[in-house]
Amino acid sequence: MAHLDVIDLSKEFQGEDGPIVAVEEMNLSIEKGEFIVLVGPSGCGKSTTLRCLAGLESPTEGDIQLNDRSVVDSPPMDRDMAMVFQNYALYPHMTARENMSFGLKMTTELSDEAIDQKVIEVAEMMGIKDLLGKKPSDISGGQQQRVALGRAIVREPEVFLMDEPLSNLDAKLRTEMRTELQNLQQTLDVTTIYVTHDQTEAMTMSDRIVILNKGKVQQVGTPLECYHEPTNRFVAGFIGSPSMNFFNVKLDGRTLVHPEFKYQISDSLFTELQEGNEFTLGIRPEDIKLTSQSTENSIPISVNVIEPMGDISYIYFDIGDNHVTASVSGEIQIQENTEVNILFPEEQLHLFDAQTGKAVY
Ligand code: ATP
Repeated sequence: MAHLDVIDLSKEFQGEDGPIVAVEEMNLSIEKGEFIVLVGPSGCGKSTTLRCLAGLESPTEGDIQLNDRSVVDSPPMDRDMAMVFQNYALYPHMTARENMSFGLKMTTELSDEAIDQKVIEVAEMMGIKDLLGKKPSDISGGQQQRVALGRAIVREPEVFLMDEPLSNLDAKLRTEMRTELQNLQQTLDVTTIYVTHDQTEAMTMSDRIVILNKGKVQQVGTPLECYHEPTNRFVAGFIGSPSMNFFNVKLDGRTLVHPEFKYQISDSLFTELQEGNEFTLGIRPEDIKLTSQSTENSIPISVNVIEPMGDISYIYFDIGDNHVTASVSGEIQIQENTEVNILFPEEQLHLFDAQTGKAVY
């Protein structure tokens, strides 16, 4: 067994129009010290999963085990997990010092002096020692979040549970805190489950990402695995910005046929496509190549819009009904409304079963 195991976890709510399945048969094995990010679109079940781990919701089915011990029936305070919320959830009438020491006072036998010593140590580490006497209303959002993190750290839990902890901060502070949180997590080596809908946070902070959609785990893997080897079309479209481009194609002999183009595939790719003949072809913007001449599999297009970003430029164009984005070197000189040829290198193609969305190549 791993450090933290989520076993066949399901959570159903009673909605006005019937049951809502927020989490469905989730299984996760998380090792000690891992930084796991739960990511997915709004309503996919991220917060519910975290709240079940924290003990703020009871699962409808399944088990949660920490160090091989089931915690599903334990109250939040007895789980050895500390939660950090998006809105900080500090007690407004307490000072930062009181907020940070409150949990320890409730759950340990430590003396007031020992607790105060711990609070000071953590406050020093978090750079908030000078704020200990202040109330939440007298400090900034970023400082409040540090106090909230400090409150979780002083408890020395086995697991940190973080629900979008940076989303109320402005963009610059968010980027700074992202790095700081990562460093802190590595130093403390505490298993962390972090919820976000921001895929940049997911990609940059995590050891492994758990991608959820409609309550179901779609893929669990390192950021690069999820990026390069998405298991299905949903993951392929969710991870990566700008998103992967998709085209509906049919296989005819060794040709993938789209209303606007034909694509000859190699023998080796052909042998991998054992079943079905309707696919979704996927290609990431950065994998689309521009060619000066027309060659086999090249597609003539007319550039609608060019967006120079400095080192790269985004090029927008249409292929039939598909709006396509390509990302090319910023040094390439190209004008809007000109015709160019593009190429999808076969090694960079992704193919998904048109019905199930499962990756087949
Ligand atoms: P967001 O990113 O918007 O916070 P999320 O991925 O965290 O979304 P959840 O908040 O876990 O998603 O919600 C999952 C589903 O469960 C949604 O359909 C939501 O409406 C529903 N849900 C969550 N909490 C409750 C509740 N207390 N009662 C009824 N339905 C709920």
